[in-house]
Amino acid sequence: MNYTDYFENTLRDLKDEGNYRVFADLERHRGAFPKATNRGDENREVTIWCSNDYLGMGQHPDVIAAMHDTLDQVGAGAGGTRNISGTTHQHVMLEAELADLHRKEAALLFTSGYVSNWAALGTLAAKIPDCLVLSDALNHASMIEGIRHSKAERKIWRHNDLAHLEELLAAQPLSRPKLIAFESVYSMDGDIAPIAEICDLADRYNAMTYLDEVHAVGLYGPRGGGIAEREGLMDRIDVIEGTLGKAYGVIGGYIAASSALCDFVRSFASGFIFTTALPPAVAAGANASVRHLKSSNAERRAHKDKVAEVRARLDDIGIPHITNPSHIIPVMVGDPVKCKYLSDVLMADHGIYIQPINYPTVPKGTERLRITPSPVHSAEDIDNLISALETLWAKCQLARLPLAAQ
Ligand code: PMP
Repeated sequence: MNYTDYFENTLRDLKDEGNYRVFADLERHRGAFPKATNRGDENREVTIWCSNDYLGMGQHPDVIAAMHDTLDQVGAGAGGTRNISGTTHQHVMLEAELADLHRKEAALLFTSGYVSNWAALGTLAAKIPDCLVLSDALNHASMIEGIRHSKAERKIWRHNDLAHLEELLAAQPLSRPKLIAFESVYSMDGDIAPIAEICDLADRYNAMTYLDEVHAVGLYGPRGGGIAEREGLMDRIDVIEGTLGKAYGVIGGYIAASSALCDFVRSFASGFIFTTALPPAVAAGANASVRHLKSSNAERRAHKDKVAEVRARLDDIGIPHITNPSHIIPVMVGDPVKCKYLSDVLMADHGIYIQPINYPTVPKGTERLRITPSPVHSAEDIDNLISALETLWAKCQLARLPLAAQ
């Protein structure tokens, strides 16, 4: 085989399908989010409309100060895996803070949300004897990979379909160990799982619950504990998994659960054991962010207002977007080439950065622009976004909602 030919041909196919990923070379500036410099495009200023730094916490003075101070005090890296000298006081404090956030006995840090799902789900599913994993059809790749890696038997339940989940649960002996894996806010459609009803089923059929709150922690609940906190359900979830890289603005992932479960995962998960711990300054920055959002509702309130405003303005001009109860606004395009074209023109002509979301991230035919307003987008930013979308929708003759149907 000519390897280079194979790589190049495969990439050409991706390009032809409109699914080739091109990254914007962005330079962020302290305190200036959502503005950034596009170093890949003559250093022009762009407004970012697709960041998962949902609340702008990546630029929060408390977070930056905590990272600076810790860097000055303890240096750059953790110096080892958690097991071999890499557990610093900053890791220990952050785990305590996260356990408290979710009202759990313990928490366990990983280098990212991806790794936490892969490692924790993979370990639980592999090590619990005869475990059956019931996985929502729209679960994130990190959960799917963890479950696959475990080699445990798995059954996929139709997305958010309680009747289907129950059917699968009821077909198993009550005594068989079962793990229900799902998300609270689904990242691409922005819909929210019926958590209470899933917990009811878990109780009835003797199953454990594993909830990914990656797109909810920091954003929902009176202390930022996620949808489960908002709905008073944290104590009914066995494992809450979250990230420190989205609403908290830094990086890292974690699970919060009972002491026994965290200790079990800590003891067996290769993705926890055999990798260098996060830098202490990162742990300190994330901790500052978690602590801030535990006591401040201002960012959450402003975020909600901005999301509502962008939605209303899209409705005013008939741009189709999925109606959902979360902060994610998927503007539907339904064609990968058009989606990429829109994204390119938004950047080139309007200085607006929205990454196209194409297959395999979303099913073919549901390609979209995923818009994520933040509290720091200004009224002018919103005006510019809406007028650019209006212009492009007309130019590309894309479908609009009939205004009467809105
Ligand atoms: N779970 C979900 C639902 C996600 O969307 C993501 C990231 N896109 C992750 C987990 C992984 O989190 P992280 O970015 O911290 O690795």
